[in-house]
Amino acid sequence: MNEEVQSEQMIEKCNEKQHHERYSRQELFAPFGREGQNKLINSRVLVIGAGALGTGVAETLARGGVGHLTIVDRDYVEWSNLQRQQLYNEEDVRQRLPKAVAAQKRLQAINSEINVEIHVMDAGIDELDVLIENTDLVMDATDNFDTRLIINDMSQKYGIPWIYGGCVGSYGITYTFIPGKTPCLNCLLGEVPLGGDTCDTAGILPQAVQMVTANQTMEAFKWLSGNYDAMRKKLLSFDMWRNEYTSIGVDLARNPNCLSCGADRTYPFLNAANNDRSEVLCGRDTVQIRPARKKEWDLELTAKRLRGLNQGKVEHNPFLISFQLDTHRMVIFKDGRVLIHGTKDKAEAKTLYHRYFG
Ligand SMILES: [Zn+2]
Repeated sequence: MNEEVQSEQMIEKCNEKQHHERYSRQELFAPFGREGQNKLINSRVLVIGAGALGTGVAETLARGGVGHLTIVDRDYVEWSNLQRQQLYNEEDVRQRLPKAVAAQKRLQAINSEINVEIHVMDAGIDELDVLIENTDLVMDATDNFDTRLIINDMSQKYGIPWIYGGCVGSYGITYTFIPGKTPCLNCLLGEVPLGGDTCDTAGILPQAVQMVTANQTMEAFKWLSGNYDAMRKKLLSFDMWRNEYTSIGVDLARNPNCLSCGADRTYPFLNAANNDRSEVLCGRDTVQIRPARKKEWDLELTAKRLRGLNQGKVEHNPFLISFQLDTHRMVIFKDGRVLIHGTKDKAEAKTLYHRYFG
């Protein structure tokens, strides 16, 4: 045997040993076992959002050995994120890294055996339609019901389950939607109090986030490892500050005439006509504007043009440009989106957008 082949085999053996050691404590858990672990390794999970919930969910799934994680997020790391968004650090803020980029870096450092695919973009109908293909499970880590209703219709259309999570203050809520087995989100809206998830200024405590992600990822482990019977069938909500924990059966909420999951379904939330190109971001003094047609900005050129205006402070990295102009800050992403900070007024935001970006 020549030396090269021998050393290759040694590396393989070493990797195999490392691989089994890594997951040994999960494999020892009887209902899971080696078989459950192997199923996890061969799974593909889509995580929508890389904020508080998304970073918690992604870290547990990556450490647990989910073989392929796809993460989509539209934002970049800021100081106010560090208190609870567990994958990020101060350097990510200084570099103004997109969350998906910073998350990928950290997750691959934690587990280099898995694939972490990232997309820095807004998860709209067209984007999700592509991303959801070949996915075993969708993890909701968004902060708004517009996106959740798109995920819900998509889940029904392709028969892929999704795990809802939400939190605000010390309150959290989670439920697992399985097409054909449970009611869908559209059935539950109006029937069950899904509050606590609204756009407000109630703040958020990290423990509430961790409680939600612990429950979301436990359900993910059960589903992906084929342990359907072990799954929690109820909607769980809690307020950790008030020491209140509630579990509600919602099976009766399933509506046979539901437009998302009923017999005559039309998937109303996959209709692009319902989509506005601008939106006020939850809990932030910020409006996001999406380009009418898909285009990639040449950031280098755009930064040069903005600097040439001599009107504000321009900073840029390979992923985005930050343009500070009086009380407004505009952040331009490569995919054409612009975040206008310092306003909740869509009209004002659109004026600024058209003035500087056509
Ligand atoms: Zn429904």
